[in-house]
Amino acid sequence: MKRYPLLLALLTTGMMQSAVGAPLSTQQSQAPGYYRMAMGDWQITAVSDGTVAVPFDKLLTHITPQQMQQRMAQANLPVNAETSINAFVINTGMQLILVDAGAGQLFGKAGGHLLENLRAAGIDPDAIDTVLLTHIHADHSGGVQRDGKPVFRNATVRVDQRDVDFWLNVANKNRVEEGQRHTFAESERSLRPVIEAGKLSTFQAPEQILPGIDAIPAPGHTPGSVIYRVNHGGKTLMLWGDIIHAHPVQLPQPEVAIHFDVNQQQAVATREKVLAQVAREGDWIAAAHIAFPGIGKVMKADQGYRWVPINYSAQ
Ligand SMILES: [Zn+2]
Repeated sequence: MKRYPLLLALLTTGMMQSAVGAPLSTQQSQAPGYYRMAMGDWQITAVSDGTVAVPFDKLLTHITPQQMQQRMAQANLPVNAETSINAFVINTGMQLILVDAGAGQLFGKAGGHLLENLRAAGIDPDAIDTVLLTHIHADHSGGVQRDGKPVFRNATVRVDQRDVDFWLNVANKNRVEEGQRHTFAESERSLRPVIEAGKLSTFQAPEQILPGIDAIPAPGHTPGSVIYRVNHGGKTLMLWGDIIHAHPVQLPQPEVAIHFDVNQQQAVATREKVLAQVAREGDWIAAAHIAFPGIGKVMKADQGYRWVPINYSAQ
């Protein structure tokens, strides 16, 4: 019993004494955040940009605080759950395509880990030839620039024209909630270096990006939000931006929206349509904001839908 205060003191400083007497550190970081999935001879790599605590109790709409807390508690999560920011790399053997670029310098230490995790995964950022953005929001597009220079030097950045028209025009400021107006300055900061380098190329979804990869409109969260659909090797993978923010809430209740949505009603309609389709088709999902690696399937549940994460594979 005499040693207890010492042990407590050591624990509070993050150090413990090992059995052989050497101090053990409790400060190590996680394993690098990447995870691979095969699609025939194509390879998908989920790459983590970080995790950020999101105050869902202040942000979700069309639900009572009690209902929300209950849904989160059923998933063993607090109402301000630590939420993943995931990006994905598609390697076709001929091309290396990054889907979303993380937050870069815009989220402090919570985000901006994409580059170190890409390198840990053996992916050279200079080898990426295309960056596909699901939409222009800080946690998806912030990582295309660093200190005013494009990060993926050899890549063309592609995004739906409707998001460029919306977020790079401050005249639209009064069309979003006051709390979301910072997005205009962030969009300018993220995309201007890419535009000035002549590396931005827009499209109008639905549009084929390249054989096997299509951009599908998913408007509501932002006007030019898209889903990228990858069809290869007998599998279909849907790469989601902000279709889902809090899956324990929005899968059973797709009508729950978030203050980040430019048009909540349209975002709900899109979510309902997308969920019904992927559950029916059995498509794979790669989601920006479902716990890393964010790969899994959506299945029908007694009420709405549920998330079934991919089984871990060491192969
Ligand atoms: Zn997002």
